[in-house]
Amino acid sequence: MIRLNVKGLKEERGRQDHYDLDVSLPELDSSEGQVSFAGTTDIHVDITNTGLCLLVTGTIDTSVNTQCARCLASFKYPVHADLFETYYDKEKGLSQNAEEGDDYVPYSGDEIDIQPEVLKAIILAMPIRALCGEQCKGLCPQCGCNRNVKECDCREEIVDPRMAKLKELLKRGENNGGSQEEKG
Ligand SMILES: [Zn+2]
Ligand SMILES: [Zn+2]
Repeated sequence: MIRLNVKGLKEERGRQDHYDLDVSLPELDSSEGQVSFAGTTDIHVDITNTGLCLLVTGTIDTSVNTQCARCLASFKYPVHADLFETYYDKEKGLSQNAEEGDDYVPYSGDEIDIQPEVLKAIILAMPIRALCGEQCKGLCPQCGCNRNVKECDCREEIVDPRMAKLKELLKRGENNGGSQEEKG
């Protein structure tokens, strides 16, 4: 949990507090797969009491352990995300001016826990296909070796099937002592 004390803040309309945090986030399961963090997460937020709700804006910087979509190597991927959320006091309820919806996160007491929203923002900021580098050569489709690490000799085998047939014919010709069969 990333608990922020808003006791003073929530009683003072118009007040803005700044929070600098360096937190360890737990591993999480998302629809995109497992996410594990490569270190701590740097969070800088401003919380403003708008009178109606607590507006949380800020930035999140972290790095996650991920796998390259091309060569499957594990590497650390830096993630930057922006945070923009509104929290309302469950006990007070929403004012009639506000529309109740998913955009408001309820809280109670003198603390808000921004961890679920932080994790959500990180997941949204993550690429669908992370690459270890733009120049990643990926895996060899023939032998499966990592072409960033090792050069294999498979490339010659990847030929146009028509070329393969021609090669085969030429080979046969050589075996027959150089004489080619006549075609009718
Ligand atoms: Zn790669
Ligand atoms: Zn190969």
